[in-house]
Amino acid sequence: MEVSLPRKTGIMIKNKPFQIDLRKLIQNSASLRRDLQKIYDRIPATRCLRQGQCCSLLPEMTFLEALQALSVLESRPLSDRINVTQKMVRYFLGNAMEISSCPFLQGRDCLIYQDRFFGCRAYGLWSGVFYQNLADQNRQGKRVLQQQWEKLGISLPAEVLSFKIPYCSQVETDPPLEISDEMLSAASDRIENLSGEMNPWDQEFRGKYFSDLSFFLTGLQFGPQEAVRLKYFITKDIIQKADRSLMDQVLSRVKDLF
Ligand code: SF4
Repeated sequence: MEVSLPRKTGIMIKNKPFQIDLRKLIQNSASLRRDLQKIYDRIPATRCLRQGQCCSLLPEMTFLEALQALSVLESRPLSDRINVTQKMVRYFLGNAMEISSCPFLQGRDCLIYQDRFFGCRAYGLWSGVFYQNLADQNRQGKRVLQQQWEKLGISLPAEVLSFKIPYCSQVETDPPLEISDEMLSAASDRIENLSGEMNPWDQEFRGKYFSDLSFFLTGLQFGPQEAVRLKYFITKDIIQKADRSLMDQVLSRVKDLF
């Protein structure tokens, strides 16, 4: 059922029925997720002195990795599920104008630590040169995004555009081991191939949701186009009028995914 909420500006918030049965997808992917775990297990354990401080962004991931994280969420009490889903929706709707931490971060702990994504496991293990290339690509992507928002008449805050996490030199493997970029790239390729077995979902997750779990979950709640529309109005309201009322209304409509 579609629920619409009139607002003084004429904006309506529409909840869409979930188009995807997440429980079933999680069940059907059990064997692939076991294989994913085997690949994760071959990435050396790390010790990090800045626990949690680098988790300012939700990393990109494959669809299979997203399902693994959602399987952890599924096993949590209802209040945790709603809380994390609201954080995901807030993250998606607000990330053009404010820096908020990864929605899985709770205090200094990661809710899905044992099942965290490849991007989290490899952070700090890439060589400085390799990571710089990734950071440069990211900066270029941000410039394009900034231009797109400018065309819509919205100037994003400079501190968000220039935000970057300094590469961490304090991550160590435990026990100490030599890790090469090639080894990490090979593990990443294996994970992508495995996730490809979830097609057409994997392709849709990449193509429609840009490998962004926060977009995917917001799209599940409101529909992908509505999610983008709401993001535009919320960003505009907050940047131009410091008005968070639409964001608050949207968050109050977030439902349990399971
Ligand atoms: S998933 Fe966990 S480890 Fe990865 S960025 Fe989020 S909080 Fe940090």
